[in-house]
Amino acid sequence: MDITLRFRAYLLDDVAREAWRHIDILRQIRNHAVRDYYDADYNDKPSDYDQHKKFSDWKQQWPVFSDPSAHAAQQAISQIHDDLDGLKEKRDNGYDVGRLQWQGNGEFRSISYNQSSRFNVDHNTGDDRFVRLRLEKLGWLKVRSNRRVPTAEDINEVILKKQATGEWFVSLVVDDTVPAREKPSLTEIEPEDCIGVDVGITSYIHTSANLTVDTLDLSDEYDRYAREQRDLARKQHGSSNWEKQRRKVAKAKRKIKRKVEDFQHKLTTWLVRTYDVVAVEDLDVKPMLEGSHSAKNKQDAAWARFRELLEYKADVHGTHVMSVEPEGTTKECASCGVETDKPLWVREHSCPVCGHTEDRDLNAAKNILNRGLRQLGAGRSESTPVQTALPTFTPQREAVDAKRVVEAGSPEA
Ligand SMILES: [Zn+2]
Repeated sequence: MDITLRFRAYLLDDVAREAWRHIDILRQIRNHAVRDYYDADYNDKPSDYDQHKKFSDWKQQWPVFSDPSAHAAQQAISQIHDDLDGLKEKRDNGYDVGRLQWQGNGEFRSISYNQSSRFNVDHNTGDDRFVRLRLEKLGWLKVRSNRRVPTAEDINEVILKKQATGEWFVSLVVDDTVPAREKPSLTEIEPEDCIGVDVGITSYIHTSANLTVDTLDLSDEYDRYAREQRDLARKQHGSSNWEKQRRKVAKAKRKIKRKVEDFQHKLTTWLVRTYDVVAVEDLDVKPMLEGSHSAKNKQDAAWARFRELLEYKADVHGTHVMSVEPEGTTKECASCGVETDKPLWVREHSCPVCGHTEDRDLNAAKNILNRGLRQLGAGRSESTPVQTALPTFTPQREAVDAKRVVEAGSPEA
């Protein structure tokens, strides 16, 4: 969930010369680490960690290696191990990949710092078009602030790069969210700012405010993916056309993944921005979409990711996310608390005890909210405003032996 903000940078001549010299030394360090890696025996390849340790010896041997920031040098070494991992992954996926290449003069163009002690940002320049950025061993440079430049503590990584055109840019890697906010205290929470979210069967989510969000329509994307796969099967395995087609398959698959992720980002952002309390089921244990295991796995994975995003964003936006016991949320009556069994295909909750009738998923979402508020401690006191968020909640009675709800003509009894 990192995003990269790019800014134009302006370096004084001597700083620019020194930066470029450091970048070139990093190139040599990188090349050295690459050679050290490939020279090692197959069974004794140095790890990232091994090479970080060796780096002290290399500095003894080539004193110029000490000129750039040691941290940036370690970063350059770590980068080749990331690249090696990337190559390995591609190879494992059947791609014909080569080795890491030796980089010639000018091929390596950036320097990176990912510890906040290695850089600093000065916003008080007296000129709101610029801020100043200090980089370890390089000193200060000017950054054009055509949009807000984050403070140093909000920046995860700084990358200074010289374009082939000679222009300098800095990329600042930050979390894609606003700085963390305090979660509101119970007395500040208004009922309308609390929501229960049920994963529906007919819709993606169903909230206790009776809002439904449809399942993302990916039929076009899946059609495309299937078509590309069929085309791949017709090509001669290993041929260049096959290789080209294989990339198209991968691209079609990526597109599906990106669309799902985008959807989940929008949904979770909307929830944490709109509400102070979001209650969801702790779904790892809830049997969903029985009978279709691969569909279930996909749903589970998507739901797990959704939960992960929701919890992460909740911390940043100051929202309480409550994970509640999912057992019985569809059976329980949101009005009187009595449990009634109902099979999956029964879309309506109709309570045999109190007569309360509403959509099955809406009833479940209300139960989820009730449980979440109780867990938060908001359901206990009469004086808590949140109490009024529970218009239908009364302490649960002893479960009575309620008649099983079975629809006529249902596939199972
Ligand atoms: Zn009832």
